[in-house]
Amino acid sequence: MTEKANIVELMGGLDFDPAALKSKYLAERDKRLRDDANEQYVEVTAEFSHYVDDPYVDPGYTREPLFDTVEMAIIGGGFGGLLMAARMKESGFKNIRMIEKAGDFGGTWYWNRYPGAMCDVESYCYLPLLEELNYMPEHKYSFAPEILEHSRRIARHYDLYDDACLQTSITNLTWEERTEHWIIETDRGDKMRARYVAMANGPLSRPKLPGIAGINDYAGHTFHTSRWDYAYTGGDSYGNLSNLKDKRVGIIGTGATAVQCIPHLGEWAKELYVFQRTPSSIDVRNNGKTDPDWAANLKPGWQKERMDNFNIQVSGGDQEVDLINDGWTDIFRNLTGIAAKLASRKLGRRLTGAERAELMELSDYKKMNFIRARADEVVKDPSVAESLKPWYRQFCKRPCFHDEYLDTYNRENVTLVDTQGKGVDALTRSGVRVGDKHYEVDCLIFATGFEVGTTFTRRAGYDIVGRNGQTLSDHWRDGLRTFHGLTSHGFPNCFFLGFTQTAVTVNVPHALNEQAQHLAHILSEAKTRGTPTVEASAAAEEDYVGVIRQSANTGARFYRECTPGYYNSEGKADNSSGFFSDMFGAGPIKFFRMLEDWRQDGRLEGLDLR
Ligand code: NDP
Repeated sequence: MTEKANIVELMGGLDFDPAALKSKYLAERDKRLRDDANEQYVEVTAEFSHYVDDPYVDPGYTREPLFDTVEMAIIGGGFGGLLMAARMKESGFKNIRMIEKAGDFGGTWYWNRYPGAMCDVESYCYLPLLEELNYMPEHKYSFAPEILEHSRRIARHYDLYDDACLQTSITNLTWEERTEHWIIETDRGDKMRARYVAMANGPLSRPKLPGIAGINDYAGHTFHTSRWDYAYTGGDSYGNLSNLKDKRVGIIGTGATAVQCIPHLGEWAKELYVFQRTPSSIDVRNNGKTDPDWAANLKPGWQKERMDNFNIQVSGGDQEVDLINDGWTDIFRNLTGIAAKLASRKLGRRLTGAERAELMELSDYKKMNFIRARADEVVKDPSVAESLKPWYRQFCKRPCFHDEYLDTYNRENVTLVDTQGKGVDALTRSGVRVGDKHYEVDCLIFATGFEVGTTFTRRAGYDIVGRNGQTLSDHWRDGLRTFHGLTSHGFPNCFFLGFTQTAVTVNVPHALNEQAQHLAHILSEAKTRGTPTVEASAAAEEDYVGVIRQSANTGARFYRECTPGYYNSEGKADNSSGFFSDMFGAGPIKFFRMLEDWRQDGRLEGLDLR
């Protein structure tokens, strides 16, 4: 029998007490657990529906309704929809219509224009189709306006504006058996038909509001970060919020969005109150301009190579060279399979499951100690620094990377209101109440994130009616049911792009690109074979759902010990509606390989092509 390895020794000793940290983590989690979990949030409908109005378009847009037929309608003009259209056009499909409720392409980058918005995944991996469009991002991490412009560049390059229906929301999507087409009805009076429909709705697209008593009572100015009101604040995505110079501003939430906009609010507001329930982990950013010499010497195929290099590392795999060399690859190198591999090498054998778990846990404490020490280093007031320390494991919440966020709390005009995990108690007519203190604010900004764990059709805003009048909401009543995350039995020629039983990657456009290429392949095959409909067989769907259920929730124990958030169904013990709970558990590398092998096989097994 293998003698139990001394993991502590292997790590070169510890300068902390793991048991004390563990009990602190659990105590911090317990403070935040609440029975209403995901139900605590308020849906942006009825009196809250103005929170999702589009502030970036001029009012009064009209157009004639459409009653024609297209080959494919793509719903959603973010990277998922754009990549789908690009890959279809490259495969020879011409008659493609984009339908998007926003006033332009860009998806999440259309909506999220808050000051400081940027992508913390390396731009050379994140921005799609860089080689196809011969474009090089300006910085290692792109700011939001550049990403939005790149979305428009893709749309122009593939002629997607020509037939696009912007500012158009779907109201009904119904399969018509007689014509074997989808009927698409919209709020513009359209009743068009499409042979194929691709749904690229995006995973975090529906803003949510916090369930705070008196949310309707507040009479000051409010908005959600994904609909930033520059008419009120002045400035733009780069800052310069000059209208706030004489304003007392409150912001609720300290997730990845808030972390990026708070430094700008702190710079411009007369007073800023940050209402924090749980602090984020703030790692080093280290952005920089793109080196033109490096860019000039890249060889064809460089982007795919770089994306693969990143994806393998952030899926826990090893790479001889870390091309990206940033906070993400550092975390994954130290906290996942790569660390275990290095330890095995030192030990001269594979780690047992228990040894591996111990190594991961101890490495995680070490990493988070570094994050907590950073708060002490940067923030001058020790009690504020203490409040900014995250007490949970790194992947309990989305890691954040920022070089100005912590320093913002050194400003005289910025107050961190630590709600001790409880959140804001109530809103009043003039401000925010936390415990027995009241904070008067002229403007209150909700940085409270997006719906996760609600139904697909609720987030989409419409249902899908397939064969024999069956609705998607009914078919997915007990959870998602797909074949390869792409399509469902009873819904011919309807395809999903995104996180519907697929694999999650840190670099979301990478996964979307794989899915778009996969679907373009299937539809090209269908065209070659002269088959107008493509539908998942009931058996294939059943088998695939089995695969998902078997591998899903692999992180259930991990997430049970986590502080609540959208990764773990807001702390619900079964984690049945967390962000990762209905995904392909074996990870993106295996998922992409499975799709590739299936394509190579050539039989299109599991799909009925009629
Ligand atoms: P999040 O869901 O991550 O954060 C919501 C915040 O609101 C949390 O801090 C939450 O606290 C807080 N909150 C909710 N209810 C209350 C309440 N009643 N009182 C006080 N606080 C409350 O949303 P974000 O918009 O920040 O981020 C969403 C996702 O968008 C990210 O996780 C990331 O995936 C993506 N993103 C990506 C970026 C990138 O660079 N690529 C940049 C920005 C966002 P608590 O933690 O306690 O629940």
